[in-house]
Amino acid sequence: MPYSQELNTAIEAVKKACSLCTTVQASLVSEETMTKKDKSPVTVADFGVQAVICHELKKAFPNDPIVAEEDSADLKSKEGRALTRKVYKYASAVLPELKEEDIHSTIDSGDYDGGPEGRFWTLDPIDGTKGFLRGEQYAIALALIENGEVVLGVLGCPNLPQNLEDANSNKGLIFSAIKGEGASVQIINEDTNDKIEVSNIDHPSLAPFCESVESAHSSHSDSEQIAQILGVTAEPIRIDSQCKYAVLARGDASIYLRLPTRKDYTEKIWDHAAGYIIVKEAGGQVSDVSGKDLDFSQGRTLSNNKGVVGTNGELHDLVISAVVEVLNSE
Ligand code: AMP
Ligand code: MG
Repeated sequence: MPYSQELNTAIEAVKKACSLCTTVQASLVSEETMTKKDKSPVTVADFGVQAVICHELKKAFPNDPIVAEEDSADLKSKEGRALTRKVYKYASAVLPELKEEDIHSTIDSGDYDGGPEGRFWTLDPIDGTKGFLRGEQYAIALALIENGEVVLGVLGCPNLPQNLEDANSNKGLIFSAIKGEGASVQIINEDTNDKIEVSNIDHPSLAPFCESVESAHSSHSDSEQIAQILGVTAEPIRIDSQCKYAVLARGDASIYLRLPTRKDYTEKIWDHAAGYIIVKEAGGQVSDVSGKDLDFSQGRTLSNNKGVVGTNGELHDLVISAVVEVLNSE
């Protein structure tokens, strides 16, 4: 199988990251939260995961650059010293070879700018930090991009239950996909690996859709109008993070809507690359709100795209026409 070494490395690194996050989430206290410039909360786990995964990627593939969300600026400040200690404590618990003096430089190895040429990794150490802080859903998202195309994706979802309706079902899943090889899910710490496929629902009225919990990240009022046009009767499934791509890929939802709330926001590549390939390899379709393919060749952001629409494939054209109708009427 192509990219099998890359896949193994990525899955093992994401597993370590899941373990780190589970420990931190269990002991989360408010002092472990800082305020980023964009006001979204960032935690010791965010930095810890970036340190662990960048370290593992650099060890296995020293020539591969990394585009990751965080940088060590906040950790280098005076107030950041105590946080650096905590990051080291949690990160070295899952990766003992990590050295405290290397934490900042390892985190900063994720400073690559991306672009159309060559191969690079992209990492969101904790996607859905708001869900993480609420004790709900979040994801560790890692993908490999080659010449502008996503070729591999791994999504660690430490809180996602195997069965969305049953909170007591096995919790903690890793989704993965390689271009041309399909998508699969495994239960963290169990020796399982099952292929996943999108739903085969062919009428939108039967199609549950998912969207952000945060109405600042995706317009809930627009999605309500779109649901009305399509005749969707089920309540929206609201989940933080790229777990939305995961529930679409395994057929719990048949539509994922991410509808712009601001004209000037551009989506980040690490917020979509892993989920994008997992849904596509599970048989689904992903585009922006106008139906255009997501373009991962433009650097750190999806500057050629607005918003995201994911579907089981079957429903894509219908959903896009409803989305275009609603957004054009504004
Ligand atoms: P979600 O959990 O799907 O709501 O998405 C979380 C991600 O939303 C974060 O990783 C942010 O990068 C991203 N985000 C922040 N502000 C916005 C915005 N105005 N529109 C869309 N996404 C945003
Ligand atoms: Mg994110």
